[in-house]
Amino acid sequence: MINVAEKTGKGRFGVYGGQYVPELAMHALIELEEAYEKFHNDPEFLAEFKKYLREYAGRPSNLYFAEKLTRHYGRAKIFLKREDLLHTGAHKINNALGQALLAKRMGKSKVVAETGAGQHGVATATVAALFDMECHIFMGKEDTERQKLNVFRMKLLGAEVVPVTSGTATLKDATSEAIRFWASNITDTYYVIGSAVGPHPYPLMVRDFQKVIGEEVRQQSMEKLGRLPNYLVACIGGGSNSIGLFHDFMKNPEIKKFGVEGGGIDDSKNARSLSGTGRPGILHGAYSYLLQTPDGQVIEAYSISAGLDYPGIGPEHSYFKDTGAATYDFVTDAEAIAGFQLLSKTEGIIPAMESSHAIAYLEKLMPKTREDEIVVVCLSGRGDKDVAHVAKYLGENIE
Ligand SMILES: *Cc1c(COP(=O)(O)O)cnc(C)c1O
Repeated sequence: MINVAEKTGKGRFGVYGGQYVPELAMHALIELEEAYEKFHNDPEFLAEFKKYLREYAGRPSNLYFAEKLTRHYGRAKIFLKREDLLHTGAHKINNALGQALLAKRMGKSKVVAETGAGQHGVATATVAALFDMECHIFMGKEDTERQKLNVFRMKLLGAEVVPVTSGTATLKDATSEAIRFWASNITDTYYVIGSAVGPHPYPLMVRDFQKVIGEEVRQQSMEKLGRLPNYLVACIGGGSNSIGLFHDFMKNPEIKKFGVEGGGIDDSKNARSLSGTGRPGILHGAYSYLLQTPDGQVIEAYSISAGLDYPGIGPEHSYFKDTGAATYDFVTDAEAIAGFQLLSKTEGIIPAMESSHAIAYLEKLMPKTREDEIVVVCLSGRGDKDVAHVAKYLGENIE
């Protein structure tokens, strides 16, 4: 038994984080750490990253005043940070661009990633096409059948999609295969992680590539309103769009931050690693809150939204939970569906099911706000990808 709770220091957020990986992967992590140390403050690297965020991804994303949604609640003014308007339709492109540029600087010619629903696979395949890199996406065989459209998308983008048949043939098995591929092709391969999770330096690095969200909100809020918001709301899968929104405001403890997890169906079927019964443990190289049985077996997460259905959580959020720096709560599948419908009808914006959780949380938050206050919700992605699934949930036949 490793006494993780005693450890602090490098790669830690309080006691959380760390590097719990096999020896072989340790060499790759050290190489990555050194490269990241070298480049993350390098003006040339940052200028190149900024250029791609602007020219390719379409940043800055708008901070949009949702006037009708505001009227609907009759309380604080609601603004939406429109990550859904970025190229490929979500915030994931910020991180994929950053990591691919780093991979290039490290002289790597191949990228590898795992994907569940396919969103991270598509973002990775996109930047691999852009930067002319060979791309291998590992995906559970089950998932390749459920997500045929995304598999075809990745192939169009030039990626090789590798179906994984071991274990339960889903995301966790694909993750193991991707890590194995990485560890045995370390000299020319870079492993792209899709959220603020995994061993150090990934959580730090992904946060740095996503913090532009909050930095823009600060600037846009000052320009538009001459003041900062009172509340920040974001959905939580692994925790990257939320940490991206929160980070620049951690120096403003008076601004309340809410992370919204997938509440699923009930107390036993959900993705509530922080707002439910999760306890700290080790998953995918890091010590963090985790859905697990009393004897430490990882429990499979469930959410209607594929992007939220992860049993772990980025280690920095675990630290924020313990210190009270942010508040973690959840909304159920049914509530998220209502949020999806509400934003579509009031603002003419169809949100991703993930983002619909943040929208649905307004039901709980808005009654506590005042008219002179400001709420910013991170609209992490657009909902086109979810329309067929939602139709099915609502019993509409659109075949
Ligand atoms: C993947 C995804 C998420 C969840 O991931 P985080 O790392 O928690 O941000 C949220 N929204 C959208 C649209 C996604 O694609």
